[in-house]
Amino acid sequence: MTTTIYLFRNDLRLADLPGLAAAAANGPVLPVYILDDDAAGDRAHGGASRWWLHHSLRALAADIAAGGGQLVLRSGDTVSCLQELAAVSGAGAIHFSRSYSPWERALETRLRQEFDGGVHLKRFPGVLLHEPESIANQTGEPFKVFTPFWRHCRRQNGPGLPLRTPSGVTWSKPQSSSDSLEDWALLPRNPDWAAHWPKLWTPGTAGARHALEQFLRHRLQRYASGRDHPAENATSRLSPHLRFGEISPREIWHKARELAARNPQQQDQVDKFLSELGWREFSYHLLYHFPTIPEKPFKEQFSDFPWLGNQAQLRAWQRGQTGYPVVDAGMRELWHTGYMHNRIRMVTASFLSKHLLTHWRAGERWFWDTLVDADPASNTCSWQWVAGSGADAAPYFRIFNPVIQGEKFDADGAYVRHWVPEVARLPDRWLHRPWEATDEVLSAAGVVLGDNYPRPLVDHRQAREAALSAYQQIRSG
Ligand code: FAD
Repeated sequence: MTTTIYLFRNDLRLADLPGLAAAAANGPVLPVYILDDDAAGDRAHGGASRWWLHHSLRALAADIAAGGGQLVLRSGDTVSCLQELAAVSGAGAIHFSRSYSPWERALETRLRQEFDGGVHLKRFPGVLLHEPESIANQTGEPFKVFTPFWRHCRRQNGPGLPLRTPSGVTWSKPQSSSDSLEDWALLPRNPDWAAHWPKLWTPGTAGARHALEQFLRHRLQRYASGRDHPAENATSRLSPHLRFGEISPREIWHKARELAARNPQQQDQVDKFLSELGWREFSYHLLYHFPTIPEKPFKEQFSDFPWLGNQAQLRAWQRGQTGYPVVDAGMRELWHTGYMHNRIRMVTASFLSKHLLTHWRAGERWFWDTLVDADPASNTCSWQWVAGSGADAAPYFRIFNPVIQGEKFDADGAYVRHWVPEVARLPDRWLHRPWEATDEVLSAAGVVLGDNYPRPLVDHRQAREAALSAYQQIRSG
């Protein structure tokens, strides 16, 4: 029996991995991960993702070692690394899960060309619930609006049952050495800004399953109402686990559905949760069918949008120094934890692209570098959605008012007080609008605007008018 190389990509797990199960059924398996930053180009993992990747690979290597195998790590050109590994191990086949971003698809094309004939190359699903080609509207076109997309997906046969971790895999002994994970220097040093992250996150399949279990047991009941309130911790926090494929969406889907079957009163919560997984699917559907989405506006007319691109304002936004407490809280949560709550992602992204008229790509890049769940589909589609240029985007004139968003979704100020301690002692009434408080109120709370907390970078009303007039230019242009 010849060896099959299993190439891990965005699927760092052993369970529910069709390509691995098929490889294991064929004979010995050589498990390989290749860090190929050149193929990814400017889409190589950002800083926060590299931290996650390091720990996720360590967890995967431990899971493989528990079954007597060794994960082979290589960095460099994927094709050359695989050619060498196939030659040395005498592998007859290479299996992998397909990926959907343009750069990963280009790599798949190269692999097909280079391994033409010799080693049998086989691509499997494993990342999504529905393959993008399998979902189309009545005229055979890709969907561009979420609601009909998801309705259509829900009418399909549900995703098949997840596969178990293949038992008794014969792991092939590597014939050549593996890189050392430490040598890849994926972790930050000098300063180690992620030193406290192991307390926040547990990358790897065990961590992913624990997160899912905790969510289904303790938080699902209040998901629909709580998911918009950043201080409530009502969501699953599964996004980085899904991003790195430590758990399959099929496993999540079936565990949630089983729970609804046992507790029918929770059906609505489960449906709401699954529809959020649906947004992930929709983002991949769009990225696959419209591969320029990471760089170009989905709505053509936004190519001429008169972005301002003020660098000082961009830096103030990145550092959580805009003078709008809810925006600053979000940007600081991101910097300190590698994560930001979904509602606040919308508010901060809207503030950058509409209040500061800074190109959404600058914000998307910052998120790419700082999010542990930085995802080629969800990040780029969501940024375009917020900026108004995306598929199914909210109408441009709906510009979030950061004060009202704060007062509505952080009414008792718990979120802002946690992340923006400078204003924590302000009464609720002024917390989200400190510049409107009297000198006495500010002084009693220890706030000195322009000194220990910034004045607002822009006035909401003026910024709103400027954004609408910029939009008029591309509408009439
Ligand atoms: P839950 O509410 O528990 O949702 C469950 C899962 O559904 C998530 O883990 C995620 O995989 C998926 N999901 C939920 N909401 C969305 C959404 N709006 N779009 C796509 N998938 C969704 N999500 C990422 O995974 N990576 C990103 O890089 C990313 N960038 C974003 C940028 C902006 C500007 C915005 C507005 C949203 C972005 N999102 C991104 C979507 C969303 O904010 C996160 O998926 C969510 O906050 C993750 O938290 P959770 O796992 O607790 O979500």
